[in-house]
Amino acid sequence: MSRQIIVGNWKMNGTSRDSLALVQALVAGVPASAADVVVCPPFTQLALLTDTLKPSTIALGAQDCHKDSAGAHTGDISAPMLTDLGVSYVVLGHSERRQEHGELDETVREKTVAAIKAGLTPIVCIGETEDQRESGDHFDILGWQIKGSLPDGFAGILAYEPIWAIGTGRAATTEEIAETMTFLREELVRQFGEAGKNIKILYGGSVNDKNAASILSITDVAGALVGGASLKAEAFLSIISAAS
Ligand code: 13P
Repeated sequence: MSRQIIVGNWKMNGTSRDSLALVQALVAGVPASAADVVVCPPFTQLALLTDTLKPSTIALGAQDCHKDSAGAHTGDISAPMLTDLGVSYVVLGHSERRQEHGELDETVREKTVAAIKAGLTPIVCIGETEDQRESGDHFDILGWQIKGSLPDGFAGILAYEPIWAIGTGRAATTEEIAETMTFLREELVRQFGEAGKNIKILYGGSVNDKNAASILSITDVAGALVGGASLKAEAFLSIISAAS
């Protein structure tokens, strides 16, 4: 089995000084044999962190990119601009972008195509709301999100982040995650055939140093997408050491 991936999504947090201190602590603390580790700071801090990360195995990720490689798109950042800075991953379709920026599955799919074309590994997020889970519609919703958000020949990582578990301190239970992983794998194989067996699936939503070991030991969980706990070196390092 390949190494698990632990991704820190810093969201819109941290000054340059905070970010540099965090990355220095991670570089010093990540054991050589650890899982693959990715940090996704805000755009403005990507360039600042490349030198500090260079001697380490920690990779740099961004939190979004535009579907076009260049052009009249005020305030946006393209995928080739990210590769130009040494970024290798990009989080796409996060529920916060879907909610706050009206991103649809189609938008996410176009961005995913652009990311792959630029040589980035996309981490495409899907997840249901609490209402959708309670009404029993969650598997339909997740199936549609997979169909709509992942392009043909998808070469990237899928992240399952139930919206009700994000930033709430209430991670999905191991049973809920296990059952959802089984469903997602079936959907990926239905959509991509044999290749669907190899697409890595991360879990995200209130992962912390206490629950990481049990979440990361669930069959088919290839790693974690961590928000709040990735902003504290000690907590993030302990999540990394829970991975295999
Ligand atoms: P929390 O870990 O803070 O719940 O955030 C999860 C998330 O949205 C990561 O992308």
